[in-house]
Amino acid sequence: MARIVQKYGGTSVGDIERIKRVAERIKAARDEGNQLVVVVSARSGVTNELIARARAIHEHPSDREMDMLLATGEQETIALTAIALHALKVDAVSYTGAQAGIFTDAVHTKAKIKTINARPIEHDLKAGKVVIVAGFQGINEDGQITTLGRGGSDLTAIALAAAIKADKCEIYTDVDGVYTADPRVVKDARKLAEISYDEMLELASSGSKVMQSRSVEFAKKYDVVFEVRSSFNHNPGTIVKEEVVYMEQVVVRGVAVDKDQAKVIVSNIPDKPGSAAKVFRALAEANVIVDMIVQNIGHNGIANLTFTVPQGDSHRAEKALEPVFTELGGGEVAIHDQIAKLSVVGVGMKTHSGVAATLFQTLADQGINIELISTSEIKISVVIAAARADDAARAAHAAFGLEKAV
Ligand code: ASP
Ligand code: MG
Repeated sequence: MARIVQKYGGTSVGDIERIKRVAERIKAARDEGNQLVVVVSARSGVTNELIARARAIHEHPSDREMDMLLATGEQETIALTAIALHALKVDAVSYTGAQAGIFTDAVHTKAKIKTINARPIEHDLKAGKVVIVAGFQGINEDGQITTLGRGGSDLTAIALAAAIKADKCEIYTDVDGVYTADPRVVKDARKLAEISYDEMLELASSGSKVMQSRSVEFAKKYDVVFEVRSSFNHNPGTIVKEEVVYMEQVVVRGVAVDKDQAKVIVSNIPDKPGSAAKVFRALAEANVIVDMIVQNIGHNGIANLTFTVPQGDSHRAEKALEPVFTELGGGEVAIHDQIAKLSVVGVGMKTHSGVAATLFQTLADQGINIELISTSEIKISVVIAAARADDAARAAHAAFGLEKAV
């Protein structure tokens, strides 16, 4: 007998038929003699729809009321999933986040989990029940409903797996697992059997969003091994865990493309101490997330800075810079959004050299110009023209031999 936490995302519980199919999967795992805690998301589209309704009434709805509203999405699915299990003669009980003992801090709409009181769940598991828990929500010290940020059901599942010392944590979604590249673009992309937490985090930040990043960080911190797999078939998925020595033999694990970035060019600012600080302070205060940064060598007392921001933030970045230019006595900004960020990721880069050279040569052979470069211990990213992003992904995938199983 094993103790299993399963999480089903919004598409997996998207309508009544799908909820019934999920109930059958839960029953099958349960009939094998396992104890089961199941976390579910709101039906796909529901959370967005609720947000749109609130915004149709008020431009800035209060965070407390947004949590009250959004928590209803998951509350619907827990009850329907429990009812679907009852229809299959499986003893099941649904819990809101609060009832499941998920205590958070007080920050509405992006609360952090502080502690979990697993006693009520333990009690029901021992009584032979399947426990269905609403993802994405908790309760703060004052008894207020909180939510954990978009995609937060993943975090609920990982945190519960840690709290009840589950033997297995399975994240069911609408893809088969984590691939070496986007299979829609790179035809011979392969599903990875295993990947390290750090690689998964870098791929997520580079445009292959399979899971909420915070939940992967949490899993890493508490050593929760989990599997990402599809609820629409029975194929094995991808196991995400701490890196082990053999993982380093593979230099590049995957290629990711992020087409949701914009390049911001700040030119003609005075080349003196404090200019860059003022530019990035203003962006930080406007909550703009800056990624790759390049400062060109100053010339005649004038400096230029180039960096990337999420496309949705580019307008805010532009506005935030206006007062800075006034203060500095000069400066202009231009936004280019026809760009893409291509990244190659792998823990093996720590111990292998030549990855950057191979990537740059591959792009050169394709006649693709590199506009910006950034590197970390396990990732190399380049900014290129959006129109060439798919060609670049295919070429890099082939150059690092990612189509071959290792
Ligand atoms: N329903 C929430 C969202 O759409 C949480 C989740 O699905 O994980 O963000
Ligand atoms: Mg989700």
